[in-house]
Amino acid sequence: MNVLVLGAGQLARMMALAVKPLNINIRAFDVGSGNVVDPLSTNIIFGDLAQGIEFADFITAEFEHIDHQTLAICQASGKLRPSSQAIKVGGDRRLEKNLLIKCNVANAKHQIIETKADFDQALDNLSFPLILKSALAGYDGKGQWRLKDKSNADSIWLDIKAFFDGAEQGVKHAVVAEQMVPFDREVSLVGARDSQGNTLVYPLTENHHTQGVLSVSIATQIDETLQAQAKKVFDSIANELDYIGVLAIEFFQIGEQLLVNEIAPRVHNSGHWTQQGADTCQFENHLRAVCDLPLGSTELVRPSAMINILGEDEVPNAILNIASTTLHWYGKSKRVGRKMGHINVSGNSEQQLAARLMSLADILPEAAFDELKPYVAAYQNKVN
Ligand code: ATP
Ligand code: MG
Repeated sequence: MNVLVLGAGQLARMMALAVKPLNINIRAFDVGSGNVVDPLSTNIIFGDLAQGIEFADFITAEFEHIDHQTLAICQASGKLRPSSQAIKVGGDRRLEKNLLIKCNVANAKHQIIETKADFDQALDNLSFPLILKSALAGYDGKGQWRLKDKSNADSIWLDIKAFFDGAEQGVKHAVVAEQMVPFDREVSLVGARDSQGNTLVYPLTENHHTQGVLSVSIATQIDETLQAQAKKVFDSIANELDYIGVLAIEFFQIGEQLLVNEIAPRVHNSGHWTQQGADTCQFENHLRAVCDLPLGSTELVRPSAMINILGEDEVPNAILNIASTTLHWYGKSKRVGRKMGHINVSGNSEQQLAARLMSLADILPEAAFDELKPYVAAYQNKVN
């Protein structure tokens, strides 16, 4: 089976690594250069998309910010899974919010802003503090403004206006203003839906962000009621989109309630722990769904965690002395804050996982793994 992935980053790479044993060959379309490449070596295989489509039995995507022309061409081939519509929803917060409303899924109170009048209305209708997010092209906390109260509204509006005015030809920007949610924690649900409509989800994962970027995810056996609540949301969204593949949903948890933050129509950073911590990893399950193979079990094998390596191209080798620890590099060149790789670690119990996480936090340099130690210490306290 041959699959073309739109996007040639680490997610395409990890898909390729995961499904080689299934005899699925992955090629990746690099949207920047327009070449189809080998996702591991990044060597050019074809010089254009058309040959990549011809090569593929199925086409999928590793990210949602793909130009609509490319999506339309892939959709027309009849090979694209999930559909272009599902991918577009993940790439445009306006469509995303409308989907959440349609599915009757709880989310933060918000308003879409396209004009100064919308902006003024949002300040009147929503309670502070607010977070304003670019409807298009936002990721890793980019394209966001925060507003504590009305005092700096004028300067923020000028910023947003400049952003609107700077849009490329034919692009209509908007911003979604959202009330800040006083969440207890952030969790996400990664799951898969096949073409027959079967769904399987991994356990909810707790996510810790550092400066707007995911830094640590922890997956353990989770409270059944909360898991059921999240599964219900997953099913309603995935069914509404007639989704095929892995889909991730980010939530804010307040008490026992989950509010959807956003969805990602793809494999997700908060599901990287499944490479070592679940029966079938998210990358394999995504390709199983896309290629019409039966989904693999999403059961947690044992408590597991993932630590993102941001902006560093090396870590002390000594971390590999810690039992059940694996290191995954993405082969990217070093840039400040860039996702360069991740570390997965598992334990037979939460106590053992916490102890191993603490050993990692002791070895990893604090400057590059800011907040890791206090976060792990708090987790260790909670489970002991
Ligand atoms: P990523 O690509 O990492 O998922 P993103 O750019 O798509 O990020 P969001 O997930 O919407 O952006 O926001 C990034 C982070 O900012 C969230 O994980 C959360 O910590 C915080 N945040 C976003 N919206 C809210 C909100 N309404 N209330 C409180 N915190 C929020
Ligand atoms: Mg997010």
